[in-house]
Amino acid sequence: MTIEGRIGVLGGTFDPIHGGHLDAAAAARRACALDTVLLVPARAPAHRAAAPQAPAVHRFAMAAMAAQGCDDLRVSDMELRYEGPSFTSVTLERLATLGHRPEQLFFITGADAFADIASWHDYPAVLDRSHFVVVARPGHSLAGLRAQAHLGARMREAAGRAPARGESVSIWLVEAATRDVSSSALRRRISAGQPIDGLVPDAVARHIARHDLYSTQSQASCLHA
Ligand code: ATP
Ligand code: MG
Repeated sequence: MTIEGRIGVLGGTFDPIHGGHLDAAAAARRACALDTVLLVPARAPAHRAAAPQAPAVHRFAMAAMAAQGCDDLRVSDMELRYEGPSFTSVTLERLATLGHRPEQLFFITGADAFADIASWHDYPAVLDRSHFVVVARPGHSLAGLRAQAHLGARMREAAGRAPARGESVSIWLVEAATRDVSSSALRRRISAGQPIDGLVPDAVARHIARHDLYSTQSQASCLHA
């Protein structure tokens, strides 16, 4: 995979991918003048006890469907190819091995995920492996992060100014209105038989229904056993 320019990296379980992820990717791309955003489904995310509900192949397939027709989005299987938990630090190191400089990489998170940064594998060194782009999420404002004195020196407001080419790695804060949706809320809605129209791309909604991915009596395990 050779990609030139500024690469955004949006990691997540994507169980399933939804409009909030796409809004966050678009907000980060606009704010930091990114050329491409890579959606990177995690095998087993490092930060949660429960395993993802949908198998990795379906989570990848749904991310690929969400990227269809968006020239600036791509899906990467780089975390699915390896056993064990997916650590952002290791993913960024692999991108470095492929020839990408830290100043070229922009790891995107929501404000909720970044609030736990001090517990991430390889913290604080992970912060030196790429820029970080932190996007506000409904219910998770950036105000609390701004108050974190130990990160203050690295934080920049993305409003009105994209990072300069080659600027040293920083934490960029992006105020944006993203859709108020989460994968866990979606899974609950689906298992309760409630509609998810407008919350995920149509192709993703059809895929979930066709493969019965999140219903209570899901037969999905038979289909991909
Ligand atoms: P879950 O409820 O299972 O945790 P989620 O909706 O948080 O799912 P993840 O796959 O955990 O989805 O999120 C991947 C990344 O996308 C995280 O950095 C998360 O903060 C970010 N993200 C998800 N939804 C939004 C949103 N609506 N706005 C901004 N960032 C978001
Ligand atoms: Mg989450």
